[in-house]
Amino acid sequence: MHFPREMETKSPAYELTQCIACGSGESREIADFEAVRREVELLWEFHGKRLRPSTPPERLMDRVAFSEHPPFRLVECERCGLVYRNPIERAYELDSIYADATPSRELLQGLHDTQLPAYRAQARRLWRVLGRRGAGLEVGSYVGGFLAAAREVGLHFEGVDINPEVNAFTRSLGFTVHEGDLESVDVRSPVDAVAIWNTFDQLPDPRGTANAAWRLLRPGGVFVVRVPNGELYAALRGVASRPLAGALARLALAHNNLLTFPYRYGFTIRSLTRLLDRVGFRVTHVEGDVLVPIADEWTRRWASMEERMVKLALGFAARRSPRRAPWIEVYAQK
Ligand SMILES: [Zn+2]
Repeated sequence: MHFPREMETKSPAYELTQCIACGSGESREIADFEAVRREVELLWEFHGKRLRPSTPPERLMDRVAFSEHPPFRLVECERCGLVYRNPIERAYELDSIYADATPSRELLQGLHDTQLPAYRAQARRLWRVLGRRGAGLEVGSYVGGFLAAAREVGLHFEGVDINPEVNAFTRSLGFTVHEGDLESVDVRSPVDAVAIWNTFDQLPDPRGTANAAWRLLRPGGVFVVRVPNGELYAALRGVASRPLAGALARLALAHNNLLTFPYRYGFTIRSLTRLLDRVGFRVTHVEGDVLVPIADEWTRRWASMEERMVKLALGFAARRSPRRAPWIEVYAQK
């Protein structure tokens, strides 16, 4: 079949892959093309119902069009439980999606102000794990929300990010930001911590990044990654066809940005531990968490209350058992 030139260059190029955590090629399908397409429809319907009729279309787009394309097909590794896209988009496609976004300064400042309070919990947790002041690097520093929260508790963090315009904004707030990826970063002395709160699951090569973190850390230094929990996604997808359980599962997934799985990898505690072990780290601590609140002035009142209730219940379960958490933070030591 012939496609116009335009379409050929814009459609993602896929390749078959295997588990990046344990190397196994044995996997079980958890969502095929049709199942993912139905989730995309559910996501539109979910947010359409919860936003006021006067909502500007771009605010709806923020909620349904993530920087990552929906997967073509999702599988779960038989050996370690990693949830991953198979086939997967080629890495160069991924870079172009992220590096192209060019938001306005006003929007970036708004994002910074919204994200700073949410990052205070992470900054405090990391401070407790380190037990003292220290220096670190944050990969995916974006608008500097965590950099600012870290500064408040006496941690000196520098950012690493690929988007030049966003980096210019973050530097204007008084932070050092390295342009590019962690593999290309050079520091004068080894750091106490490397944190990846947002992008580890979206990196073309998570293991390469974990290796780079190892190289930059001092012995005893802490590597922490926060990722969507593939184990919970796979479990909730498994009950999707049951009437009541399916409806509750969709609520839990949608309120935590897991519906349509807009991520490259769905790490589980087991698969991430395996990957970090192979790099040389020792996992010391895991925290379960929910996504930060996403309701805003466009959200209907009942929907904001629903979101609070869902996150309260899930947050309670998550702290008791991180395996059931929508998001997990894994702390490892060099
Ligand atoms: Zn595996």
